[in-house]
Amino acid sequence: MTEERLSFQAEVSRLLDIVAHSLYSEKEVFLRELVSNASDACDRLRYAALTQPELSADDPNLKVRLLVDKDARTLTVADNGIGMNRDDLVENLGTIARSGTAAFMKSLDGAEKGDGKKDVNLIGQFGVGFYSAFMAADKVTVLTRKAGEPTGWRWESDGKGEFTVAEADGLPRGTQIVLHLRAGDDEYLDEARLGGIVRKYSDHIAIPILFGEGEDAKALNSASALWTRSKSEITADQYKEFYHHVGHAFDDPWLTLHWRAEGALEYTNLLYVPSTKPFDLFDPKRAHRVKLYVKRVFITDSAEGLIPPYLRFLRGVVDSEDLPLNISREMLQHNPMLAKIKAGITRRVLSELSKKAKDSENAAEYDSFWENFGAVLKEGLYEDYEHRDELLKLLRFRTTAGDELVSLEQYVARMKDGQDAIYTISGDDLDTLLRSPQLEGFKAKGVEVLLLTDPVDEFWMPSVGVYDGKPFKSVTRGGADLGKIKGEESEKPEEKTPEGELTDLLALLKLTLSDAVKDVRKSERLTDSAVCLVADDNDMDMHLERLLKQHKQ
Ligand code: ADP
Ligand code: MG
Repeated sequence: MTEERLSFQAEVSRLLDIVAHSLYSEKEVFLRELVSNASDACDRLRYAALTQPELSADDPNLKVRLLVDKDARTLTVADNGIGMNRDDLVENLGTIARSGTAAFMKSLDGAEKGDGKKDVNLIGQFGVGFYSAFMAADKVTVLTRKAGEPTGWRWESDGKGEFTVAEADGLPRGTQIVLHLRAGDDEYLDEARLGGIVRKYSDHIAIPILFGEGEDAKALNSASALWTRSKSEITADQYKEFYHHVGHAFDDPWLTLHWRAEGALEYTNLLYVPSTKPFDLFDPKRAHRVKLYVKRVFITDSAEGLIPPYLRFLRGVVDSEDLPLNISREMLQHNPMLAKIKAGITRRVLSELSKKAKDSENAAEYDSFWENFGAVLKEGLYEDYEHRDELLKLLRFRTTAGDELVSLEQYVARMKDGQDAIYTISGDDLDTLLRSPQLEGFKAKGVEVLLLTDPVDEFWMPSVGVYDGKPFKSVTRGGADLGKIKGEESEKPEEKTPEGELTDLLALLKLTLSDAVKDVRKSERLTDSAVCLVADDNDMDMHLERLLKQHKQ
C-alpha cells in the first residue's frame, strides 16, 4: 500500500510552529477542540442518515470516546460520526479552511512584532481547531473511515511541514485522533483530569462523551443538549462555553437569549449577540450562522430565511418541533413555518435590544453593541418595514454635540427654536467631517448635526425620510436654512460685509467659475471659512455622489 507524503499549506506550517513552541498555560483547550469536532462529525452523520439510514444502521448510537494507553503514552479521541475519505483529509487537515483559524492568523500579523506572549494567548482565545492537537502532542495519527465508504485512511504528522496519507484496513466508521503526548504532558492520561476538562468545556455536547472502551464506559458529560435544559440548571459558564462551540467564537457573549416559543408552533431558541465584531460581518452574502435543529437533529447552519440578514450577527441554535425531519435543505426556505419562526425570533430579539437601549444606567453597554453592529442593524430600516419604528429607536449617532452616542429622541428633544429638520453630514470618517466648513454655521448657532460615516446611511435615510415629523436634511445641501433658527451666537453687526460689495463679489465668482459650479450664493452657514461647496436641494448628496463614483455607478 502506497503512502503519500504531502506538505501543509504554508500558513498551516506557520501556525503549527507557533502552536508547538507556545508554552501556553491553558493548552487543555486542545481537548475542547477535538471533542467539538467529534460532536460536529456525529451531527453531520445524523443528518445524512435522515435520507440514507443505512449510513449509521450498523452502529446507530453516536458517541465520543476518550481512550488512554499509559504505556504508549497516547490519548485518543474517537467518534463514530461521518468520518473522512482521502480528499477530506487532505483538504481539512492540511489547509486553513476554518474561519476562526484564518482570523487567528490574521490577528498574528498584527501581534507578531510585539512580544511572543501575545500570540500564545490568542491561541486559547481563538481555539485553532484540529491543529491545537499539536499543543499537547509531538505526533498525531488520524485513523478514519467515511460513512458509506469501504476504504479507511491513516493520516500522520509530527507537525513539521509535512504529513502522510495512506490507506488503512479494518477501521470502524468515524474518526480516531491519536495524540502521542509530549514529554511532561502525562496529565492528559489521567481520567480525573480529562473528566474535569470535559465538564469545563464540553458538558453541553448532546451526545455522550465516554471514558474507556466497552459498554460500561463512564460518561464524563451530561449528554443532553444545553438548550433543552431549563434555564435554572444552566450556569453562566456553560452558556458561554456553548456559545464558543456553536458560534465558533472566542469572545464573551454580549447578550444570551434562551426561550421556548409555545403555541401554534413550538421551538426552542438559544441565541447570542457577540461582544466583538465577527470578521465576515460585511461579506456580500450577508449569511447568518444560526444552526437549525429539528427535534434535536442538526439540519443546517445556513437556513436562508431563518434569520433576517440585518440580524446576521446572531449566533446560536433554533430547534423546531414542527418542521418535518426529512426536509431537504433546499426545500426549507419555502416552508411557511420557517417564516413564522423568523418573525418570532425577530420580534423577540428586537424587544430585548430595545430593553437594553432604554436602560440608561448601562448606556455604555448598549453603546458597545451599537459600535459593533449598528451598521448592520440599519439595513433593517429599508428591509423590514414592519419593524421600522422599533429600529429607529435603536439608532445611535455621533454628533457635533460631543463624544456621546445620541438617539434620535435625544436629538429632537434638544433641537433649537425654529429648527424643523434633523441635520446630517456624511463622509468617510469622523475627523474629516468635524473639520468640514459646512458645519461652521451650525456650530456657531449651537445646532447639533448627526455625523454619518456608514455607507448604509445613504440608503436608509432617503428611504425613511422623516423621524417624528422632522425630515433628515444634509448640511451640504443648499437649502439648509440657518436664518430661521434662533441660535446661541451673538450678533456681530460690525463685521458684516456691505450688501453691495457682496453682490459684486458673487457676480465675479460666478463669472470666474462659470461651468464648474451651478451657482454661488451667500450663506449663514460659514463663520471661519470664506467659502464651501454644497449640493443643490434637488441634486445628490455629495458624499453619496463620491461613494457611487468609487463604485463606478
Ligand atoms: P472547524 O471545526 O472549525 O471546521 P477544525 O480545524 O477543528 O475546524 O477542523 C477542520 C475540519 O476537519 C472540520 O471542519 C472537519 O471537516 C474535519 N474534521 C476534524 N475533525 C473531524 C472528525 N473527528 N470527524 C470528521 N471530520 C473532522
Ligand atoms: Mg473544530
